[in-house]
Amino acid sequence: PFDVLVVGGGPAGASAAVYAARKGIRTGIVAERFGGQIMDTLGIENFISVKHTEGPKLAASLEEHVKDYDVDIMNLQRAKHLEKKEFIEIELESGAVLKSKTVILSTGARWRNIGVPGEVEFKNKGVAYCPHCDGPLFEGKHVAVIGGGNSGIEAAIDLAGIVKHVTVIEFAPELKADSVLQDRLNSLPNVTVIKNAQTKEITGTDKVNGLTYVDRATGEEHHVDLQGVFVQIGLVPNTDWLGDTIERNRMGEIVVDKHGATSIPGVFAAGDCTDSAYKQIIISMGSGATAALGAFDYLIRN
Ligand code: FAD
Repeated sequence: PFDVLVVGGGPAGASAAVYAARKGIRTGIVAERFGGQIMDTLGIENFISVKHTEGPKLAASLEEHVKDYDVDIMNLQRAKHLEKKEFIEIELESGAVLKSKTVILSTGARWRNIGVPGEVEFKNKGVAYCPHCDGPLFEGKHVAVIGGGNSGIEAAIDLAGIVKHVTVIEFAPELKADSVLQDRLNSLPNVTVIKNAQTKEITGTDKVNGLTYVDRATGEEHHVDLQGVFVQIGLVPNTDWLGDTIERNRMGEIVVDKHGATSIPGVFAAGDCTDSAYKQIIISMGSGATAALGAFDYLIRN
């Protein structure tokens, strides 16, 4: 068996694997797609000490760093079941079963898509998901935020300080965000809120030039000229495969303590698949390190 088996090969998993391997213990990492979300990311400018990089380049560096150690890398393998017996067993979609004394879950998350025409075509060409990451690219421009929940309204407030104008598009007749956030939003001069609006299409040529929505009260179609659209309708953790085996919160995020420990002894978790307050590369790497140190601590005590 492995001493530490990491499930997920994004920033959190890579960091966990390096930290575990540096303890000289038998370490494996299984990933559906090594690199994770950063494979879909163009510019990265908030990975501290690196002023600018690109997702695939950072992913290659992560892999190179992991390969510098004696880590068993199993790429293009998807985990489908976890069970604690004598060891912790991870069953893969291929049918293989991996056994380990400790497991670190780092299966990440994905942004919920709205699934309208233009969303996929203009991804990274005006369609964005992360205001902390891509907000500064829209300085002085007109953008929309789709989604009036907490994340949408936080994004709109954040963006209003950077861009020229923000239009918030909410499907329901009312915003769902906390009232303190709504009050703050309403105090801003450069924000328009459109409620009861169903986004139909994100339009553009080589990049985004606007958005079409239907007023759900009247059925009328409207178009807004824009240079950017931030989709903020939720982040979905990749944890469905765990079912009821492990404690997850209402959003499906794995609940961890400050050592990265989960509800199953010997199983740790890190990164965007957990209930961490913020989801960023540098944060997931930090939590990967925490989980690996937590797992090592567990091994020397058990
Ligand atoms: P992920 O990166 O999601 O990695 C999860 C890993 O688990 C992947 O290897 C995946 O294949 C694997 N996996 C999933 N399910 C299974 C399974 N069942 N079995 C095996 N493997 C599985 N953050 C920043 O700090 N700066 C930015 O500029 C930035 N820009 C972003 C732009 C975009 C478009 C997106 C989508 C995100 C951006 N982020 C940015 C957020 C950042 O990418 C994430 O916070 C970070 O990647 C989380 O790392 P993670 O390792 O927890 O998860």
